[in-house]
Amino acid sequence: MSQQLIFATNNDHKVEEIQAAIGSQLQVISLRQAGIDIDIPEPHDTLEANASEKSGVIHRLTGKSCFSEDTGLEVYALNGEPGVKSARYAGEDRAFEKNTEKLLHNLEGQSDRRARFRTVISLIFDDREYLFEGICEGRILAAPTGGRGFGYDPVFSPEGEQRSFAEMSLEEKNRFSHRRKAADKLVDFLQQQAKRQQKAQQ
Ligand code: IMP
Repeated sequence: MSQQLIFATNNDHKVEEIQAAIGSQLQVISLRQAGIDIDIPEPHDTLEANASEKSGVIHRLTGKSCFSEDTGLEVYALNGEPGVKSARYAGEDRAFEKNTEKLLHNLEGQSDRRARFRTVISLIFDDREYLFEGICEGRILAAPTGGRGFGYDPVFSPEGEQRSFAEMSLEEKNRFSHRRKAADKLVDFLQQQAKRQQKAQQ
């Protein structure tokens, strides 16, 4: 395969989703695959700052172009919570089921179920940082359904659908996905850079 780009994550689901968006023109490799064994902290109170922190750490470590992403589930009736705290909503053990239970509990009796996933990608390319955003609007279901995907997928249904993300194949989820939308912007950017480099060499 062609050129490699380090994705500052060890979440195999995320790597698979982003690789599907990018296609075969670029190989996305996880931290583990790049031989990097660290747990990068996410100490900030915005998705943007956490994404920048992660790509910055890996760039300083490797000197290579790399990207990271941070995603949050923003629930309208909860004033945007869990948001940047999505991974640790129910505690430091980052347990998907406990997070989902807490979310459903906090929404009990609430008729406004609107929510959105928001992804921010931070790319460090030729020593400069670029940010890309992807949003998927939808709603929180009354109970978890479906066994695919990860995280809040069993309780999130995107706009225009009845099913949860966890009832969809990866291809179906990617038609709506926040991460896919941010990844498409990343791919467009990389393609433009490649064209520019080709022109400069002519
Ligand atoms: P992070 O970007 O890994 O910090 O993810 C934040 C939290 O949102 C984690 O609990 C993830 O499980 C959850 N999350 C991120 N992306 C998705 C998704 O596509 N579907 C469902 N949950 C997600």
